[in-house]
Amino acid sequence: MDIREVTPFLSVSPQIAEGDLAAIAGLGFKSIINNRPDKEEDTQPPSAVIAAAAEQAGLAYRHIPVISGKVTDADVDAFAAAMAEMQGPILAFCRTGTRSTTLWALTQAPHADADAILKAAAAAKYDLSALRPRLEARAQAAVSDTASAADKEGEASVPVHEIVIVGGGAAGIACAASLLKRRPHLDIAVVEPRDSHYYQPGWTLVGGGVFKPADTERPMASLMPSGVKWIRAAASGFEPEKNRIVLDDGERLGYRALVVAPGIKLNWEGVEGLESALGKNGVTSNYLFGMAPYTWELVSTLKSGRALFTQPPMPIKCAGAPQKALYLSADHWKRTGVLKNIEVEFWNAGGVLFGVKEYVPALMKYVESYQAKLNFNHNLVAVDGPAQKAWFETKAEDGSTSRVETTFDMIHVCPPQVAPDFVRGSPVANDAGWVEVDKDTLQHPRYANVFGLGDVCSAPNAKTAAAVRKQAPVVAENVIAVLADKAPRAAYDGYGSCPLTVERGKIVLAEFGYGGKLLPTFPTWLIDGTRPSRLAWLLKEKLLPNIYWDAMLKGREWFAGPGTMQAGAPPSGAGQ
Ligand code: FAD
Repeated sequence: MDIREVTPFLSVSPQIAEGDLAAIAGLGFKSIINNRPDKEEDTQPPSAVIAAAAEQAGLAYRHIPVISGKVTDADVDAFAAAMAEMQGPILAFCRTGTRSTTLWALTQAPHADADAILKAAAAAKYDLSALRPRLEARAQAAVSDTASAADKEGEASVPVHEIVIVGGGAAGIACAASLLKRRPHLDIAVVEPRDSHYYQPGWTLVGGGVFKPADTERPMASLMPSGVKWIRAAASGFEPEKNRIVLDDGERLGYRALVVAPGIKLNWEGVEGLESALGKNGVTSNYLFGMAPYTWELVSTLKSGRALFTQPPMPIKCAGAPQKALYLSADHWKRTGVLKNIEVEFWNAGGVLFGVKEYVPALMKYVESYQAKLNFNHNLVAVDGPAQKAWFETKAEDGSTSRVETTFDMIHVCPPQVAPDFVRGSPVANDAGWVEVDKDTLQHPRYANVFGLGDVCSAPNAKTAAAVRKQAPVVAENVIAVLADKAPRAAYDGYGSCPLTVERGKIVLAEFGYGGKLLPTFPTWLIDGTRPSRLAWLLKEKLLPNIYWDAMLKGREWFAGPGTMQAGAPPSGAGQ
């Protein structure tokens, strides 16, 4: 086999044989596109034979036959539809791979410059230089389509910016700042509806009585990098084929490159009765700015009873935050001598205390010292505030589910979390609803000028501000590359961090990348992440908030300079 990667989402090859399909599945491909009409050559296996072998290997299959030298616009549309509908990575083939590469190139013409497309094809050893006029014509047609669609919709002109960023949270602002650091005159619009920006990692410390809520809030206007156009609206949809987004008032906004960073949705409705129960009768959550002070009010007044701390199914932002709330609460009760009167319980939808095993022994010591009871595989499904009751669903080994009812005097809830509604089901989303990205470059696999960043993106990292600090420079670098018709080269290593506040004054500093690989910032003699550390607490309480406000959101990439694909893993950098 001669498989050549064109993008992380699509590879191409010359004719494959029936017997190759199992190996192709083994290489991680999920789908096959056959671009050869049957009976071009006597030796060629018919489409039906490849289809059957693909099915047996668990691969999706589509036949889009294209006559050699006669790639029609309808063929290109069919190929684009297959790329949008099929799961990647996809392997497309024809006799030599040229037709498949040509089809891919023509689908990209509205989103990327002809030079960049031709370079990517050349890197896969396909010389498509003769295709340049057609690529340019398609790009021009897309611009005209956008204009005529705008006219039809009564819009005199759709404003177009060089870069549009959706979301002015940790990721959106950090990325805008990193872009401007590299190119101070870039035309950037940030679409963000909120007037306040929050340092969410501080909310655990608000709930622990260490920070005041005001320490975690600043006016959005004070953080928008100068030179950025702030559009005070919410995005409501994507039209990547036309290089524009839709705003909640129906207006459109065009772009040359798009960064999608609207964070994650807290799905309070996912637990029956929870939304209306919050803020009274002992029901609280550090996941809301306005609710974290109530956590501390409950903790500092509870003298006896049952305190529950819940964790929903993954993914969630800051996977350690539910147990951080438990540790800081139990530590306060221990210090004030009331812990012996309080039953502390952790109810976790998952099956382990923490996803990276190296940190579990240190955490278990605290669980034991607080005499906290662990209930794994129990998912919170309903809360009755006035009755102070909670219900959890649990699955038995035979697959049957049952409900467990329990009472509480205090319950700290981490809500279930999903991709924002306007992203889920949109053309830029994957099947699970997240903005689909290549996990290294954070570039969208089908729309070369679209990037996903922060909690909303599909990369399998821990969703944290620490991850964003490493991702934002990577996206900035790669957006600039795409605007300059170059292939993205900056790479993200999956770094994320979770400073687990095991007691007031000590932290187990979990830092890891893709696959749970430990990525400590400091030498172990300074901070050994697998043990509780006073220095790590000082880092969290005194340094990281300043690093967030004054470095990360200002384009100062301390410990966060992007690595490149060729140079190997990027350097690591301390938590958040
Ligand atoms: P956000 O910072 O949430 O920003 C998203 C932005 O998009 C918001 O400003 C929002 O208004 C905007 N937006 C939403 N919808 C739209 C729309 N339709 N159009 C335009 N804009 C939109 N991380 C750590 O590194 N360490 C920690 O210790 C830590 N602890 C945490 C504790 C808690 C309790 C919580 C809640 C989070 C914690 N995190 C921690 C996680 C961290 O805060 C997030 O991972 C980080 O903020 C993600 O950045 P983001 O920009 O993707 O999302």
